[in-house]
Amino acid sequence: MHPAVRYRRPLVPLAFSCTLFLRFDSAGAKQSAMIVRTRFAPSPTGRLHLGHVLAARVAFSIARDAGGVFLLRHEDIDGPRVREEFYQGIEEDLEWLGLRWDGDALRQSSRIAAYEAALESLRERGLVYPCFCTRREIQHEWARMGAAPQGPEAPVYPGTCQKLSSSIQEVKLGSGMPFAWRLDSRKARELAGPLTFQDLRFGEISVDPDLLGDVVLARKDIGTAYHLAVVVDDAFQEISHVSRGEDLLSSTHVHRLLQALLGLPAPLYQHHPLMLDEEGNRLAKRSNSLAIATLRDQGRSPAEVLAMIDAG
Ligand SMILES: [Zn+2]
Repeated sequence: MHPAVRYRRPLVPLAFSCTLFLRFDSAGAKQSAMIVRTRFAPSPTGRLHLGHVLAARVAFSIARDAGGVFLLRHEDIDGPRVREEFYQGIEEDLEWLGLRWDGDALRQSSRIAAYEAALESLRERGLVYPCFCTRREIQHEWARMGAAPQGPEAPVYPGTCQKLSSSIQEVKLGSGMPFAWRLDSRKARELAGPLTFQDLRFGEISVDPDLLGDVVLARKDIGTAYHLAVVVDDAFQEISHVSRGEDLLSSTHVHRLLQALLGLPAPLYQHHPLMLDEEGNRLAKRSNSLAIATLRDQGRSPAEVLAMIDAG
């Protein structure tokens, strides 16, 4: 095992059996004929490290163990941090590890029209509102409130622009001020009603729209945002099983809500444990020593690198 890596073993084996799949699948006869389709969705803003390999390997194993399809999606809407060399680097690393995907990789940057259409559908029903706040204004509002409303990872948006009168909103829109579109989580909850999602590790989870509050669905700078793009693309690529790190478990509440609002199917989820460094911190792209390219240059074989994520 690599000395710098400690990995918490998941509660279910990464390569879970068809039995497990069928057990969770028994709710719907239609789903029992479903072809398993998974995806690995890195951002081309750096090279892959061991944490990515774990995520890729989980998605790859779920698909291959079920005779299904494993897809690659480049989540490349994060503007200036995306670099052309990283698309190729990610694909090289995956191929070297033997985690070959099916078909062509999808680039989110080619899907902007689909995200705009989804946003428009929400806008027509009054489920999003323009937010003119700067980061600084949001911080001031949190301070004014005394205690910022806490989400699982960060304080949630205080709802300032949701309360704007329509006349003030029109003035601001007319002035050319930059704005983001935020989900009106209260209206969304009312429209969608109670929702759940199935996680292969944690079981059935009830959706709590307050967890992340009024999230941004279209950023000021790029016209879309992670939560909207990922939901639209999971449906577009007909993903049956979404596997990803457990740090995204709270995001799944928003994603399930968006699926309901947009009339999209709900995939099964598997939120896997994250790889941690010696101090128990999450591996970051900054941890260059654990980049796959670096390990390869040090003479490690693909089997040795894969063994690092299997060691527990
Ligand atoms: Zn605002």
